[in-house]
Amino acid sequence: MGAIVAIVGRPNVGKSTFFNRLIQRREAIVDAVSGVTRDRHYGKSDWNGKEFSLIDTGGYVLGSDDVFEKEIDKQVELAIDEADAIIFMVDVEAGVTGMDEDVAKLLRRVKKPVFLAINKVDNAKRSADAVEFYALGLGEYYELSSINGSGTGELLDALVEVLPEKEDTVDDLPRFAVVGRPNAGKSSFINALIGEERYIVTDIAGTTRDSIDTKYNRFGFEFNLVDTAGIRRKAKVKEDLEFYSVMRSVRAIEHCDVCILVMDATRGFDGQVANIFWLAHRNNKGIVILVNKWDLVEDKETNTMKQYTQKIKEAIEPFIDVPILFISVLNKQRIFKAIETAVSVYQNRSKKIKTGKFNDVMLPLIEKYGPPAYKGKYVKIKFCMQLPTPYPQFAFFCNLPQYVREPYKRYLENQIRENFDFTGVPITIFMRKK
Ligand code: GDP
Ligand code: GDP
Repeated sequence: MGAIVAIVGRPNVGKSTFFNRLIQRREAIVDAVSGVTRDRHYGKSDWNGKEFSLIDTGGYVLGSDDVFEKEIDKQVELAIDEADAIIFMVDVEAGVTGMDEDVAKLLRRVKKPVFLAINKVDNAKRSADAVEFYALGLGEYYELSSINGSGTGELLDALVEVLPEKEDTVDDLPRFAVVGRPNAGKSSFINALIGEERYIVTDIAGTTRDSIDTKYNRFGFEFNLVDTAGIRRKAKVKEDLEFYSVMRSVRAIEHCDVCILVMDATRGFDGQVANIFWLAHRNNKGIVILVNKWDLVEDKETNTMKQYTQKIKEAIEPFIDVPILFISVLNKQRIFKAIETAVSVYQNRSKKIKTGKFNDVMLPLIEKYGPPAYKGKYVKIKFCMQLPTPYPQFAFFCNLPQYVREPYKRYLENQIRENFDFTGVPITIFMRKK
């Protein structure tokens, strides 16, 4: 699990320019091949070998052109709650503004690391102007230019220095995070799981300051639920705030093995549900989709579930090998099945296929349908194996790895899925030189 870094600041200081600079380097390639539309405000980055999630909180604030002070306050408070470190960005061109002062006031009270980033310092003249930001009372600052990249390295050096190391998990139990949009029924689902008899065994102090894992022993399974939006809803954020749910989802998803994505059947699999889904996918987490409030769907016919499933699959292509269950928390319908499914996805995610067996199955399939020739060259795959990583990754060794295109990798993935059960789990395939 990685650390979470939030970028805050008023509009137009350059938050998204900075965000894109850090993210694109790494993810443009990934997205180009997978064809996945990504959330433009959330991504993974790494520096000096340390990986972290980066969130451009500004992107989630509604109407960011004429943002009200209240919105900024909320953005900052949420960042304070959810992030491991905060980058506070200001604009040297504009100088210190009233809004900057308000944000600084909130941040001065924070115990988490705060990095004051003075952006648009494109030249030495502007560097002299940066001094006035000492007035914000945040101490040392970093001058940078998000446009030409200068100074970003120094900021990142200091940032990754303070990020927490990968944390040890408390135990080896499956960790399930219940995620989804506000009002999907997450807390109801969790309450239904807890039941009146309180199956909670222990409250383990979370592996981070803010998250609490609760250990359950239910339906014959032992698992940890990673606390998310529903449980301790903050009184100060009552609105149906997209930003809030994304932010909390990031935290929960980073700290789990399997995401239980709860959605409201009457609202459908919309863009915001999709955001959370791809967040889980990007983090290589197992996924189970629960279509909740099925009791509210009227005139159900034999094909209703099938058609609904089909629609979701269209939205999550190409990663469609995902369990989709129709539940009603209200009627306690298929709650058990949901947990049982999450457990089996967990098992799929930790599955290790022996190399001998893997080759016995895959090589004949490759023999039957080999990689197409590319630029007149033939690719010969000689050997393959599952890598010893915490989630399923596979390497195929061949003479010309760079000539194997995406469609063929997809063929390999489909064959793996058909022959070994990896339902609910993202798979990564590498072509390697042999
Ligand atoms: P956001 O609203 O905070 O996300 O700001 P944007 O990233 O959209 O940037 C606002 C404007 O500032 C855009 O026109 C950017 O091109 C410009 N900008 C961003 N970073 C820099 C920089 O380092 N130097 C200069 N001169 N302009 C920048
Ligand atoms: P959360 O914000 O995702 O934690 O959602 P809640 O658990 O607070 O539920 C939001 C609303 O949906 C509440 O009024 C619940 O009673 C209602 N709700 C939850 N599950 C169901 C269900 O299966 N059927 C129906 N009809 N309502 C539900």
